[in-house]
Amino acid sequence: MRVISLLGATGSIGRSVLDVVARHPDRFRVAAVSAHRDAAALLDICLRFEPEVAALLDGEAARDLHGRLRRAGGRTEVLSGDGGLIEVATHGRSDTVVAAIVGAAGLVPTLAAARKGKRVLLANKEALVVGGEIFMEAAAAGGAQLLPIDSEHNAIAQCLPPTYARDPAASGVRRLLLTASGGPLRTRPVSVLKDVTPEEACAHPNWTMGRKISVDSATMMNKGLEVIEAHRLFGVAPEAIDVVVHPQSIVHSLVEYVDGSLLAQLGYPDMRTPIAHALAFPERVAAGVPALDLIARGRLEFEPLDHERFPCVNVALDALRAGACATVTLNAANEVAVAAFLDRRIAFTDIATTCRKMLDSLVPTTLRTIEDTLECDRRARNATKALLHLDG
Ligand code: NAD
Ligand code: MG
Repeated sequence: MRVISLLGATGSIGRSVLDVVARHPDRFRVAAVSAHRDAAALLDICLRFEPEVAALLDGEAARDLHGRLRRAGGRTEVLSGDGGLIEVATHGRSDTVVAAIVGAAGLVPTLAAARKGKRVLLANKEALVVGGEIFMEAAAAGGAQLLPIDSEHNAIAQCLPPTYARDPAASGVRRLLLTASGGPLRTRPVSVLKDVTPEEACAHPNWTMGRKISVDSATMMNKGLEVIEAHRLFGVAPEAIDVVVHPQSIVHSLVEYVDGSLLAQLGYPDMRTPIAHALAFPERVAAGVPALDLIARGRLEFEPLDHERFPCVNVALDALRAGACATVTLNAANEVAVAAFLDRRIAFTDIATTCRKMLDSLVPTTLRTIEDTLECDRRARNATKALLHLDG
């Protein structure tokens, strides 16, 4: 029996995790769950999965959840604040922690789980982009096992030897190829991108996801963050990680070996497949996803990335080359800019220019500890808000 703490239980990934868990009550049990402030959604989850602990970041929402839960006869202990999230991440009964909070907000609880030596199933790519080598070292020191849920990284993990340990040369790995759908704006004239609305940016053709990652997919900052994620997870040099546009989202990523072999993982665009893979690893369990019908699909296409349309990928690559402080700044600038875009305060194309400006004006500092990292993140957020004239 695998016992799970689920950070970000009410989100798109959280719900897919619960769907897979519910299919295998003999294998998986949820012991702790967390969310930001949606008490009603977490109440439903508590009544259905009966975890021992549930935490909401928002204190008032947590009191609301506690009251409703008791009235409904639920016995789950309700916690709140940052401490509540840490409790969920480090819960004594859990051996597995699913990191499915969105943004750098997930870093501290995910790091706490890694330090405790949990099996960490990572969807929250921003935590790794921001935590960087400090996160990777803490995970290694804590004896944590990291299993990627992000579909590209999960595909790569499936195409690498099971013993792979961040050393491409030792396994004959020459290159990683990350596929990208190109999102909802792949064929839109570049001249009209400035007028794209939040609704259009969030209308992804292949995947249903949270709003922040949907916007990241439209700008393709998501792919930039994923190159950084792949570099950190697999120890492959940035020059040996390529992005290829594949509009069908069937090939989830590929690994190229020195002998000319190219290994790929294929499947329908449904996050339950990588989630089930990571939950059951090294075994396999049903995910509720049908078998891929290649004949019905008929055609798989691949195109080069259009950097004029998607400047964010190069911005992210530049940040990766510039070092840890630059990747923290990139992520912070992007989170602030995406939130401002979703609030209709800046234009779609301002997201890329904001991230570029923040990187260009950066005076890099060395990040030695997680406190240095969190301070860098705070400074970058404030500077981005000042740049965009956003108050508070
Ligand atoms: P979402 O917005 O649907 O859900 C986010 C979850 O995090 C919610 O449960 C929310 O309550 C919680 N949360 C938000 N802010 C928080 C905070 N400050 N403190 C604590 N909890 C907070 O997002 P999602 O689409 O499920 O994505 C989650 C993560 O997984 C992201 O990092 C995303 O990049 C990654 N990811 C998502 C998908 C996908 O298909 N949705 C695919 C690959 C990777
Ligand atoms: Mg992905």
